[in-house]
Amino acid sequence: MESVVEQSCPVCGAEDALRMLAHTSEIPYFGEHTQITMSCSSCGWRVTDFIPAEGKKPGSWSLKIQNSEHVSARVVRSSSCTVRISELGLEVSPGASSTGYISNVEGVLERFCAAIGTIRRQADRDSDDETLLKCDELLERIEQVKCAQEVVTLELLDPVGHSQILHEDAVSTKISDDVAKALDPGPVYPVFDIGSEETN
Ligand SMILES: [Zn+2]
Repeated sequence: MESVVEQSCPVCGAEDALRMLAHTSEIPYFGEHTQITMSCSSCGWRVTDFIPAEGKKPGSWSLKIQNSEHVSARVVRSSSCTVRISELGLEVSPGASSTGYISNVEGVLERFCAAIGTIRRQADRDSDDETLLKCDELLERIEQVKCAQEVVTLELLDPVGHSQILHEDAVSTKISDDVAKALDPGPVYPVFDIGSEETN
């Protein structure tokens, strides 16, 4: 179902350029959910999010990555989710343009590698040897995690509660309202207070 969103783009401000695509399907172990993609035809801004059919409570999911099976565990990350690996000092909070994705633990690690790669390139340009060394060290440790040579815990903290690690060894805990409030809630969509118009 595609809808026109009667609101200007939050990034470029273009009128009549926002479209919302909603698609309901079933993810094994996650259940029925709606995938929502907002996109702007003017500037190319695009976000995806996942909304489960049954409501979820604010919560955290954690998985100690100890074997290759854990590395390939499915991860549903909604746009409101903070991703953390404390042992490596890595954390990604949602920010204003965060987007949801379905991946696996390895894919999450790849995203961290890509982010570290960006920092590394900048450090290379600045001849910042200390940062370069730190980046190389981290990238090497992430490689070790990928082959389960170094054990770390992947944590998803979601004040909205739509994120999940789909593995029987993953541990789900509730987070208190205070903690939930302290987390970055992610981007605010102009999605839910609109008079949308179906185009098909
Ligand atoms: Zn735009």
